[in-house]
Amino acid sequence: MRLALHYQILIAMVIGAGVGLPLNIYAGPRERLRIGEGQAAALDAGQVTAEARAAFDANDVPLASDAAVAVERAGAAWHVTSGDETHVLQKHGAEIVVFSGGDWPRTVAKYGKRLGDLFLRLLSMIVAPLIFTSLVTGVTSTGNLQGLGRLGGRTLVFYFATSAAAVCVGVLLSNMIQPGKHANLDLIQRSAEAVTGGVMSSESTLGEIIWDQVFTLVPSNPFAAISDPGNTSMLGVIFFALLFGVFITVVGGEQGRTLTRFFSAGFDVMMRMTMFIICFAPLGVLGYMLYASAGKGLEVFAALGWYIVTVATGLTIHSCVTVPLILLLLARRSPWAYFKAMSPALLTAFSTASSNGTLPLTISCVEKRAGISNRICSFVLPLGATINMDGTALYEVAAVLFIAQVTGHDLSVSQQLIVALTALLASVGAAGIPHAGTVMMVVVLGAVNLPLEGVGLILAVDRILDMYRTSVNVWGDMTACAVVARLEGEPVREPVGESAAEPA
Ligand code: ASP
Repeated sequence: MRLALHYQILIAMVIGAGVGLPLNIYAGPRERLRIGEGQAAALDAGQVTAEARAAFDANDVPLASDAAVAVERAGAAWHVTSGDETHVLQKHGAEIVVFSGGDWPRTVAKYGKRLGDLFLRLLSMIVAPLIFTSLVTGVTSTGNLQGLGRLGGRTLVFYFATSAAAVCVGVLLSNMIQPGKHANLDLIQRSAEAVTGGVMSSESTLGEIIWDQVFTLVPSNPFAAISDPGNTSMLGVIFFALLFGVFITVVGGEQGRTLTRFFSAGFDVMMRMTMFIICFAPLGVLGYMLYASAGKGLEVFAALGWYIVTVATGLTIHSCVTVPLILLLLARRSPWAYFKAMSPALLTAFSTASSNGTLPLTISCVEKRAGISNRICSFVLPLGATINMDGTALYEVAAVLFIAQVTGHDLSVSQQLIVALTALLASVGAAGIPHAGTVMMVVVLGAVNLPLEGVGLILAVDRILDMYRTSVNVWGDMTACAVVARLEGEPVREPVGESAAEPA
């Protein structure tokens, strides 16, 4: 008998973390020595002074000759490479601490990421054809425009309301816990990472975000939108597929039937491909867990402890209290049974940190395991992966308020309101890919004139929070499906057997 998929994924996660964490703790970089802070200017100029060199020698960490030593700035740290060894130098008060070694965990993390990336690429490969065929099939089965409008209206209201609820939790917790006030700025600056040009380039305002969303809804070329390598033009694909489906119904007759059958057959094939690719989920998850647990120094978690606690508590309240209540009251479903049925997709969302990448699994779980019709899944889920991000909205608020607190900016109530509103919109604008929420954060920071470099302070722990918020995002989309299905009068079917979403 084969083990159910969610157990396979869970075991892969445990193995990944179980191997990665001890590797990180016992074979991670070691503190080797300390040198004076006065060396910073020389290091910035790419040099190691004779004084620093003598300190290395005195500690039995000899450096190669000048020509063979390379100094490189890496965020708030410097990497000094001498021969095969790289030393990481970080400021700590009046000293610079030198760490060496730890190559093993970094190598394991690198290969783990490659394995995970390969799996995510496989999933991404099927996203565009899957949502296109799924949407066209969904619309042609609906048949009328009015039904579609009602479905769209309900979905959008639900998405807006739940994201707003998440944002409120974020604001409340950030004010109650005050993570930035408890934080040690020196420690945080040591773990800060440089903010790259890509993150800093956005200068959008609130109005521009909304306009961007409306604009990208209409693709100037649907084929280009479908072939977008990062699947970031999903709104355009959704819009075109909806119209295409509607006009198949309008044309009707023999031609309409031929196309309906063609797309329905295409959808069946895409679902079978999805199920085949899902077989590799445990491997991809294993890779990503190794990457997440072995790669980063654990010190950063201490530096940003209260911030992590605030975001994680907010996400937990939203996913374990707000959403289950909605499921129980509005969808009349047992939250636990629904959660269990959805677990393969939720675990995959957790490890890949990509709602878009997880979409094939999300569709397959909701349709096959919870028995919700394709008419609803095909519309609600792709739209949700693109615009409904409860976890991201909550995280944006908490992160921006943290940055404000830590940099000593006291935000008034009206400024916090602006943060909340902008964060809501930023979550709509963020793509369902890893770290998209962090990139969008500059818009929220800009709205209340906070320093954009503040993003660098929280980058070090972003991956782990991204994993959690992505599963909360996907959980929100799945809940929307259950609620909308009930409002549309579909019978509530108990989630079916564990093997239902698995390959035949
Ligand atoms: N990674 C998230 C997602 O795919 C977006 C984010 O960065 O918040 O849903």
